[in-house]
Amino acid sequence: MLEIEQLRVQYGDAVALDGVDLTVADHEVVCVLGPSGSGKSTLLRATAGLELPLAGRVSWDGEDLAGVAPHRRQFGLMFQDHALFPHRDVIGNVAFGLRMQRRATAEVDAGARAALARVGLAGFEHRRVRELSGGEQQRVALARALAPDPRLLMLDEPLGSLDRELRERLASELRTLFVSLGVTALFVTHDQDEAFALADRVVIMRSGTIEQIGAPQEVWSHPATEFAARFLGFANVVDATVDADGVRCAWGPLPRSLAPGDSGGRVRVAARPDALRLDPDGPVRGHVSGSTFRRDHFLVRVETDLGPLEVAAETPPDVGENVGLGLDPSAAVVLPA
Ligand code: ADP
Repeated sequence: MLEIEQLRVQYGDAVALDGVDLTVADHEVVCVLGPSGSGKSTLLRATAGLELPLAGRVSWDGEDLAGVAPHRRQFGLMFQDHALFPHRDVIGNVAFGLRMQRRATAEVDAGARAALARVGLAGFEHRRVRELSGGEQQRVALARALAPDPRLLMLDEPLGSLDRELRERLASELRTLFVSLGVTALFVTHDQDEAFALADRVVIMRSGTIEQIGAPQEVWSHPATEFAARFLGFANVVDATVDADGVRCAWGPLPRSLAPGDSGGRVRVAARPDALRLDPDGPVRGHVSGSTFRRDHFLVRVETDLGPLEVAAETPPDVGENVGLGLDPSAAVVLPA
């Protein structure tokens, strides 16, 4: 398995990774998620050996990889733009890594064909890559990364350049492929849907450090910090207090069980827009300052004494209208202050 310990990378004075610890177990798919500039690509590059860490260790099954060149790490890389060679046919692209390993011609050919079959592209050997759909190109890139049989597959925004509909379909296809092939993978993305659809574990990064690691469902429903919560769409965060009787905030009393066990005193209560509702009798009041249409609902912005809040609604009230807001306590999260 892959082990990253206290990894630190700097570009000049700028710290890109600051003491990162992470493991990827055999057959596990781990996704690093975070805003732009949080260090995701640097983590991938340092793991691949393309970036020299200032401190810390990257090891595989206990072997320190510090002196091991990138092409000797047996890691397969796949980047956002796929970087396929436009003048080569499909098999020419897929065979690339095998040829780099200076294997015999027959072995290169057999390995490339096997990799194509694994991604469901048998028969595509002599197609031109420019004549393939975006999804097919993506699978060719995956076959090329898989052909040399890497012990770790690393992907940087694997679906980043594709349009939304295709991304959603391919995310579930990729997940199925990963599971059936038993790959071990570390990939980075800024796209939450992609991360949650593909990963066994999600890592949330913030300014070169890890903010939270957990199973997708756990992280999605229980962000550990306000940063993770806001990043995952908990746009409504308000002050609260907690004592033995429960959590108190502008939304009214909330069950004590929502608060982390050791918290006492000040906390924060976070909720997604769909955990709030427009309710004339709701405990929080404000006026509507705008609405945006979001596929199957409107996101309504309400200016309140607590600051601006966002509520999901089927039909948007008029701008300027006075409204009441209520909270569904079962969808709220209590965070450390
Ligand atoms: P992410 O992939 O999350 O967008 P990066 O790993 O690319 O983040 O970058 C992390 C930080 O390091 C950013 O502040 C970025 O500006 C900086 N950085 C990345 N690459 C370089 C570089 N080659 N030279 C200087 N700074 C860099």
